[in-house]
Amino acid sequence: MNYDVDENGYYGRFGGAYIPEILYGNVERLRNTYLNTMREPSFQEEYNGLLRDYAGRPTSLYFAGRLSEKYGTKIYLKREDLNHTGAHKITNSLGQVLLARKMGKNRIIAETGAGQHGVATATVCALFGMECHVYMGKLDVERQHLNVQKMRMLGAEVVPVTSGNMTLKDATNEAIRDWCCHPSDTFYVIGSTIGPHPYPDMVARFQSVISDEIRRQLMEKEGRDYPDYLLACVGGGSNAAGAFYHYLDNGNVRFLVAEAAGKGIDTGMSAATIRLGREGIIHGCRTLIMQDEDGQIEEPYSISAGLDYPGIGPIHACMAEDGRSRVFAVTDEEALDAAFELTALEGIIPALESSHALSILQKQAFKPDDVVVINLSGRGDKDMSTYVKFIQ
Ligand SMILES: *Cc1c(COP(=O)(O)O)cnc(C)c1O
Repeated sequence: MNYDVDENGYYGRFGGAYIPEILYGNVERLRNTYLNTMREPSFQEEYNGLLRDYAGRPTSLYFAGRLSEKYGTKIYLKREDLNHTGAHKITNSLGQVLLARKMGKNRIIAETGAGQHGVATATVCALFGMECHVYMGKLDVERQHLNVQKMRMLGAEVVPVTSGNMTLKDATNEAIRDWCCHPSDTFYVIGSTIGPHPYPDMVARFQSVISDEIRRQLMEKEGRDYPDYLLACVGGGSNAAGAFYHYLDNGNVRFLVAEAAGKGIDTGMSAATIRLGREGIIHGCRTLIMQDEDGQIEEPYSISAGLDYPGIGPIHACMAEDGRSRVFAVTDEEALDAAFELTALEGIIPALESSHALSILQKQAFKPDDVVVINLSGRGDKDMSTYVKFIQ
């Protein structure tokens, strides 16, 4: 089995580039440029230098002793929470903004839901003195006040979107509309393994530094460069794709992914896109989507703002269908339990998104000498207002 994207941007049936005519030239130019540019030694040198000195990579691979003892297996945490701005997202924003500069574009746009991708992109734009506009649903602007303030302090314009449900899906539509109006000078920085080809592949490649580091770090600690299990949460799927990337065709490594079951799979309040979604087209690609009988996109729900996207990266739709990955639906309550457990046992407060991945420990049995790596996608600072309600 092969999970490399094909030349038309597909993973099996999923993916592709379904875009309005006016963007065709832009997307085509990106498709023809991204691989060659990313491979240029000067690009690699600048990108890797920034990852090291600015973002703080490599992030550590930490053997979680007390958590391991509790679950009777060997558990390592890939500490993406230690990155600048608190999650894996900066890795992708740095890559795409560097690419934009190489392509001569100096106006950056982005969409954001919880604000994490917006903050990461605004951060990189400040670093390079570039113009940055972040589209954000009006409801999210109100819910994510701190991130809005950060983006503004970083010099970005936050554009509140009042169409539709005023959340991420609507912000993404608005960003695409902006891109259509400014096709020549604007680069659209997408925050996950979603959107039209080549975005899902490009984002997976930028994030693949995660699995590259895991290989080297496991070799040092375990004398072999792969784990038996790799666990990650999926919103759009970028931290998972990055953690899996160099193991995609290594059948010894089992991929366990957590999607958000919200208040429960059958409650109508979840973001369990892989479990509940049906095939359709969203934001430029064919994938699984939460939609009703008439094809209307259903508003997803999760306690974790970073997981409530109504679609899923096409690579994950494909891997789940093939059985390459095993998908767990994790409720709000289970994720909260896992967050408090990690905090109590290891002194690490995880992001609510990452807590969904941690919760898989409760659902899957492991053997004592299994090597289990959990991608800890981000830190919990941004979620404190939620956590405080549950402190006993
Ligand atoms: C945005 C975010 C996610 C979800 O996005 P993916 O593209 O699925 O990785 C997960 N964890 C954290 C901490 C995030 O900020």
